[in-house]
Amino acid sequence: MKQPYLLLTPGPLSTTASVKAAMQIDYCTWDSDYRQVTETIRREILALAEADPTTYTTVLLQGSGSYGVEATIGSAVPRTDAVLMIAINGAYGRRISEIADYYEITHIDVDFADDEVVDPQRIAQALADHPEVTHFATVHSETTTGVLNPIEQLMPLLKDRGIISIIDAMSSLGGVPINVDELDCDYLISSANKCVQGVPGFAFIIAKQAELAKTAGNARSLSLDLFAQWQTMTQQPGKWRFTSPTHVVHAFAQALTELADEGGVNERYQRYAASQRALSTGMQALGFELVIDPAYQGPIITSFKYPHTNFDFDDFYQFIKTRGFVIYPGKVSTIPSFRIGTIGDVDTTDINRLLAIIGDYQQLNQ
Ligand SMILES: *Cc1c(COP(=O)(O)O)cnc(C)c1O
Repeated sequence: MKQPYLLLTPGPLSTTASVKAAMQIDYCTWDSDYRQVTETIRREILALAEADPTTYTTVLLQGSGSYGVEATIGSAVPRTDAVLMIAINGAYGRRISEIADYYEITHIDVDFADDEVVDPQRIAQALADHPEVTHFATVHSETTTGVLNPIEQLMPLLKDRGIISIIDAMSSLGGVPINVDELDCDYLISSANKCVQGVPGFAFIIAKQAELAKTAGNARSLSLDLFAQWQTMTQQPGKWRFTSPTHVVHAFAQALTELADEGGVNERYQRYAASQRALSTGMQALGFELVIDPAYQGPIITSFKYPHTNFDFDDFYQFIKTRGFVIYPGKVSTIPSFRIGTIGDVDTTDINRLLAIIGDYQQLNQ
């Protein structure tokens, strides 16, 4: 089946034909073959995040990425005597705050504008002002704009105070080098359909075993009980508690093999970064301004301001879609903008084709 367009969206994204082909078999879940696939995935995720398997574990969880974030917040933060600080510079940070509301977790939101980076100095000040903070959460690659937050600079501030750290690395893990051992974070969350280039269907949480072990009974949700999921997966190796997305799991195993074949996270990062540079340079040449300062721009997704107040995004979108690419609307409420992703099975050749199409649109709409 021919794919009608390439997705330039930050997950789901364009996957390879071989990843899609891995889903053509109906697999069972209970036997040792399947459980070995699960165990291999859990191990390989630790390796790609440079997490020591004696210190860390991977818990896989059915659902989209948000299920992984909610399970982590709802399981890591106990019902009493806990205060969560959240550094927010976009919709995914705000989602963590919303999760905290649902769970009636006392939380302190440190808000930044969507086009700003999370500033470690302001976080240091906020932590000094709030010695009661026990847990901290933020987003690594804020997909709202494409800004990359400096988690390496935030972690030491948390370590100094013994604060449990939770990082939403949904749209960066696998596409941006992350060294969990060096970060020494407690929880790091991602999902199948982002930079590992699998399809949607489960999230995964890299957790420090010693911290996860303290969370028995914390969860306020049965299916989102991270501790219980971990117990089942380790006590009966490779077993998921409830029905798992078998096709998605096999596609993910294939995607991990292809990530290794590409040369690993560094090589993939180079490919994404090259696409992002080509996109950013080409779009600016066509008259589009950036939302994010290039100093803080990540390689995942780039936001562009509408070129003028009468810009018709729907028309622009349709023009591009009928010519083979799907882009993304903006998510910054204060800046009329749209986004173009550079993750997935996409390279600079595709980006150059896209730029030619956008150039044609500009010509026709002068
Ligand atoms: C994709 C993403 C999520 C999860 O979103 P889902 O729609 O639940 O998959 C969370 N955080 C970030 C930064 C993301 O990019």
